[in-house]
Amino acid sequence: MEVKTSLLDNMIGVGDMVLLEPLNEDSFIENLRKRFDHNEIYTYIGSVVISMNPYRSLPIFTPEKVEEYLPGLDEAYRSLRDQDKDQCILITGESGAGKTEASKLVMSYVAAVCGRGQEVNKVKEQLLQSNPVLEAFGNAKTVRNDNSSRFGKYMDIEFDFKGDPLGGVISNYLLEKSRVCKQPRGERNFHIFYQLLSGASGDTLTKLKLDRDFSKYNYLSLDSATVNGLDDAASFRTVRNAMQIVGFMEDEVQLVLELVAAVLKLGNIEFKPESRVNGFDESRVKDKNDLKEMCELLGIEQSVLERAFSYRTVEAKMEKVSTTLNVAQAYYARDALAKNLYSRLFSWLVTRINESIKAQAKTRHKVMGVLDIYGFEIFEDNSFEQFIINYCNEKLQQIFIELTLREEQEEYVREGIEWTNIEYFNNAIICDLIENNQNGILAMLDEECLRPGTVTDDTFLDKLNTICAEHQHFESRLSKNSKFLTDHSLPHSCFRIQHYAGKVLYRVEGFVDKNNDLLYRDLSQAMYKATHSLMRQLFPEGNPAKVNLKRPPTAGTVLCIKPNDKKAAHIFTDSLVCHQVRYLGLMENVRVRRAGYAFRQPYEPCLERYKMLCKQTWPHWRGPARDGVEVLLTDCSVPAEEFAYGRSKIFIRNPRTLFTLEERRRA
Ligand code: ATP
Ligand code: MG
Repeated sequence: MEVKTSLLDNMIGVGDMVLLEPLNEDSFIENLRKRFDHNEIYTYIGSVVISMNPYRSLPIFTPEKVEEYLPGLDEAYRSLRDQDKDQCILITGESGAGKTEASKLVMSYVAAVCGRGQEVNKVKEQLLQSNPVLEAFGNAKTVRNDNSSRFGKYMDIEFDFKGDPLGGVISNYLLEKSRVCKQPRGERNFHIFYQLLSGASGDTLTKLKLDRDFSKYNYLSLDSATVNGLDDAASFRTVRNAMQIVGFMEDEVQLVLELVAAVLKLGNIEFKPESRVNGFDESRVKDKNDLKEMCELLGIEQSVLERAFSYRTVEAKMEKVSTTLNVAQAYYARDALAKNLYSRLFSWLVTRINESIKAQAKTRHKVMGVLDIYGFEIFEDNSFEQFIINYCNEKLQQIFIELTLREEQEEYVREGIEWTNIEYFNNAIICDLIENNQNGILAMLDEECLRPGTVTDDTFLDKLNTICAEHQHFESRLSKNSKFLTDHSLPHSCFRIQHYAGKVLYRVEGFVDKNNDLLYRDLSQAMYKATHSLMRQLFPEGNPAKVNLKRPPTAGTVLCIKPNDKKAAHIFTDSLVCHQVRYLGLMENVRVRRAGYAFRQPYEPCLERYKMLCKQTWPHWRGPARDGVEVLLTDCSVPAEEFAYGRSKIFIRNPRTLFTLEERRRA
């Protein structure tokens, strides 16, 4: 916590938990509640911001209010501009806690504080407008959140030496593509499908061979097709407008919408068995109208696609062998195609947006990175999707632990201040269980998928139980803290992991298939034969571009907390908040931060703020600021054990001391 003295003025509750007295879980939650009740949704732990979702709009983002409400951001931006330091903002919290909204606030903040001028304004506008486009294609209504992100996003905003934005680069991670074909009960497909059908003109729909009626499409779930508070038609106009601002040409927009339409058509293609003399059933397309229309949309020869739904070609040795598909395999092939089409379209959109918003490499100076991923999900039944999402969150939590807790400890060392280590829970052991190259769950899944023979979800689970149980014995010798939980109460075909955020039961059904996600070559070849220019681009059959999570060295963090489970304003549910406070490790975070010294500040600003309290330092102190601070503190007769003099900063042990100084200053 540095120089955030504005937090000491005029506040409701305590603005920085480091200064909370007494510190315990009740007072922690009480403080959050008190601030929440007064619309103070941000609270600090040092450089970490806790943000409580208000579930309604607060008038906080006028330019004048920017600094008042997110001073952590201001600090990040200033050290980027003035001290030449790259910054990174990690946003974490469970689904619906407000991560995406917080990440947009970061972007609006940047837009509000930095320079003007035509060029700069255009860049800002494009950066901001990339959001509605990506949300339309990458977000969906879920049980937890009406606008839930179903992909991870990392965005670098690039600045010139004056601190004006030059552009940005977006990386996307792991779109939840299974949603394209099937949605859990009470959830929807990606927004864009509903937006297109509700918002496009009759003329456009005719061209796309679409019907306005959601119920005509197999891929659209009906039990929650319209969502209270979501106006799909209006959103469609917003998205179209945003695409234009970001720089999409009219004909590109058209190409994109044609692919969206093609996915809907694809979902309507159905299959029936045709008995063969050899006793096997072979799949045939049932009603050819949707197939025909899809082929017309994309410029694919109907017979080519039709054949690809009945046969697949396998290369064995030097020979090509054609085998028939049964009905189940044809559906599998169809869905794999839809998922691949959609997720490749999504990645293409990101690339296309990047083309527009990227800065000139020559002039780039500093970057501010913002990471916003999908939040932790625990349902009664969890599948491969939750496993991947929760793994991402586990990883992010690890980065968070490392950055905040470890760096805090390292600062003491750097400043030459004596320090005794604080125990904190490190979730590295959970990450290892999942990602270890040899016997991690992901490695085993990959191995199973590559193994020839009859691989099923159950063989995968058997392997998991054998190896992870061994792993567990090995771990238990080290820490007695295994995170792969085996007990006899486990339902059939399930395994359980103790994540940092809670125990999660995963059902293995579908793991192998979803991990494989095989797209038969016949289908990708059929797609590549399309005359549709974008479609061809999407199926070059190479490696999907690899993305790496690169992270600048310094970091600010936003932790988002969901006050209730009802998506409602003004409700603060203690038990829910308490659970999040616990698993986010917030108490530990505060404890680490004040185990030694609650407050620290570079000598110069400290002297500047308190010099009026001492005759020798007022109005000017000639000499090193460090000495000035020493004279000042001695003069104020604060006990010596309350302070430690670091190399560049003064460290104050007890928050009370700071309050005393503040009171004297105001007196
Ligand atoms: P997920 O992990 O599912 O993507 P999330 O953490 O990104 O969830 P958001 O989409 O940011 O959650 O927030 C969920 C909803 O909560 C928003 O659609 C909005 O209605 C409300 N909300 C969140 N933050 C704010 C805020 N700062 N002000 C007003 N409303 C907010
Ligand atoms: Mg989100």
